[in-house]
Amino acid sequence: MDKKLLIVGNWKMHLNVHQSSLLVHRLQERLSGHRSLEVVIAPSMLTLQPLSQQIDRRRLKLCAQDAYFKDDGPYTGEVSFAMLGDLVQYALIGHSARRLYFGEDLDTVRDKVQAAIRNNITPIICIGETKQERDAGETKQVLHDQLTTALMNITSKEIERIVIAYEPVWAISTFDGILAKPSDAQKALRYIRSQVEDLYGKRVAEAMRLLYGGSVDNHDVRSYLELPEVDGVLVGAASLNYQKFVAIVNQAHQIQTERK
Ligand code: PEP
Repeated sequence: MDKKLLIVGNWKMHLNVHQSSLLVHRLQERLSGHRSLEVVIAPSMLTLQPLSQQIDRRRLKLCAQDAYFKDDGPYTGEVSFAMLGDLVQYALIGHSARRLYFGEDLDTVRDKVQAAIRNNITPIICIGETKQERDAGETKQVLHDQLTTALMNITSKEIERIVIAYEPVWAISTFDGILAKPSDAQKALRYIRSQVEDLYGKRVAEAMRLLYGGSVDNHDVRSYLELPEVDGVLVGAASLNYQKFVAIVNQAHQIQTERK
């Protein structure tokens, strides 16, 4: 199947406008723009506007880390998907940091997915279990609940634009070597694809791009990208280092070439 691998860098709450511009400059000097790959960065909200003028869209695309689900109104402090429509092509929705630190619940994630679709932004819906849920044997139930609520009311046409990222919360930003085994990632992603198949059929499920995320770096990216269910990676910390991120993109390109 001819799916482009998707490599997404989540810069989280790091880098000011100047630092972000410098990182984009360094990335663009080194990324040659492979047709078989999409390379996407998710910088802070503040930098999306200036970066949208700086980026070369053949090499990089922009992603919002979050946005509010209403299109406009008296929601002080918020930025809507409608406002981002001209700037970004993708948006992370339901990242575990949003769920954990900002109390984002299943219904809010569902509303944000619909707002993104309404405004022509491709949602990258992040789902995954916590360590406690995993230890309690609840992984499948958690994935099922997060997935089915997020996709509620999404039509069979709209589903074609959606990307799902499996990010086990216990494996995110761990600097102490607690990584998901590729077999864990494969098992969860296969389950997610089977759920999408139950809801939308085999063709849609096979065509959907599924990402893996959780402390992926240039040393282990190959072990995830080689999995049959993986169509890309969501990279946090390592995406702030241009050498690591470029090495990740180059390995993805190599793997894509080998797959053909
Ligand atoms: C993320 O932010 O989605 C992520 C996976 O972060 P990290 O790579 O740092 O674990």
